[in-house]
Amino acid sequence: MARDTGPQCKQCRREGQKLFLKGERCLTDKCGVERRSYPPGEHGRGRLKQSEYRVQLREKQKARRYYGVLERQFHGYYVKASRQPGITGENLLALLECRLDNVLVRLGFAASRRQARQLIRHGHWTVNGRRVDIPSYQVRAGDVIAIKASTPATQVVRDATELTGQIPAWLQADHESLTAKVLRKPERREVAAPVQEQLIVELYSK
Ligand code: SF4
Repeated sequence: MARDTGPQCKQCRREGQKLFLKGERCLTDKCGVERRSYPPGEHGRGRLKQSEYRVQLREKQKARRYYGVLERQFHGYYVKASRQPGITGENLLALLECRLDNVLVRLGFAASRRQARQLIRHGHWTVNGRRVDIPSYQVRAGDVIAIKASTPATQVVRDATELTGQIPAWLQADHESLTAKVLRKPERREVAAPVQEQLIVELYSK
């Protein structure tokens, strides 16, 4: 399965903001953005030419990196979103937000999307009682997510719950039994991604 294995702090530095890709480390002063707040590379501290295209491109790259999705799959989400009724940008964010790896992070069951993907691929999670090992699995309203019985990953998941902030209103989590329920589709105001989706739509509509 294709995945982005590049250095994550460089991705945040490229986008000029914290994307919280590394779990607990992102909350410490070891954070790459805190230590070097300029883009990576030899010309990182040089002047950047700003253009409309560049702003749109960076926004798309930021969203892609935040959700840990490669270009081809990201474009696939855009195509799907543009065919759905409603606002394309909001549809796009809802599709990304409903990925199982993202949902585990929102529920506090994983410290980062990369950790969530590993837990899913190794078969530690079930949806509606069936094992799901596809990180891009789209959750739906009514889905019940649970950790597999007597899995060795339980402690890792419990440790991740310690870092949890607020769980969005479209999800319900039980950190004791490590189970959760999807109550409904997320609304735009409930998506905490640092992304201006309209810029992505403008880029792809060129
Ligand atoms: Fe980004 Fe986290 Fe690295 Fe900071 S520590 S630069 S937020 S991945």
